[in-house]
Amino acid sequence: MKTIRDVFDRFKLGLKDHYEVNEITSLTQLAIAEKTGFSNAKIKAFPELELSENESTKLIDILNELSTGKPIQYILGKTEFYGLPFLVNPSVLIPRPETEELVDWAINSLKTEINNSAHIIDIGTGSGCIAISIKKHLPDFKVSAIDISATAIQTATKNAKLNQVEVEFSEEDILNPKATKTKKYKVIISNPPYVTLLDKRQMHTNVTDFEPHNALFVSDDDPLIFYRFIAKFAIKHLDQNGLLFFEINESYGQETVNLLDELGFKEISLRKDLSGKDRMLKAML
Ligand code: GLN
Repeated sequence: MKTIRDVFDRFKLGLKDHYEVNEITSLTQLAIAEKTGFSNAKIKAFPELELSENESTKLIDILNELSTGKPIQYILGKTEFYGLPFLVNPSVLIPRPETEELVDWAINSLKTEINNSAHIIDIGTGSGCIAISIKKHLPDFKVSAIDISATAIQTATKNAKLNQVEVEFSEEDILNPKATKTKKYKVIISNPPYVTLLDKRQMHTNVTDFEPHNALFVSDDDPLIFYRFIAKFAIKHLDQNGLLFFEINESYGQETVNLLDELGFKEISLRKDLSGKDRMLKAML
């Protein structure tokens, strides 16, 4: 594997049973950019550029890992979300583009509807992508975040440092909230586990074999369990006229709206993601 063109050829061959052609091209580009420091433009424009032996070896290592189905973000240990860098590892979900849409909705709403310096909490923060992006764009807000996983909290803490923001993280299980907690928040936001075991059958093994199950799955019997617990937490801990933002399972849009309606939330609005699927909710208490 001497040149950039050789890398593309080798990746295409090695990954043809795992990914579609376009996906292989972008994975190869990402891998080359990471290991050589070349820009995407340079990679495209100069296929005959030669690589060092060390670069070639590292790219072969990446190819070998990719062919096990491991997501590139875990192999490289990082990704980008809402224009910001995030460290990722198998203890946190890889941030998704639909979650960027939720963050965008929240940031725009908070700018106009909520006073600066209000307190926000992100429930089930994982890599910290929601909490950190909000704090980065709205630095006057106070942002807290919780997660059941200690390793997720460690990763999120590193990500806050990497992005030079202050977020207060704590390890906590929203299904067993501390009874003594008395804090009030102006905004609650969450992308909780919502994939049912029925949905799981249709998911790619890239996700099911590598990403943390406690961040993804819920039982078919009670798919809205996290929404119910978070809504009840909100009833106790959200200020009057405070806002609740959720990422949701596309198959349970109306059910999630009904759940919030029955619990007394108002101005409930359901939004689709860029793929046209019911994906997020905003409500007021
Ligand atoms: N959107 C993610 C997926 O489809 C699931 C995220 C979640 O369960 N909160 O993999």
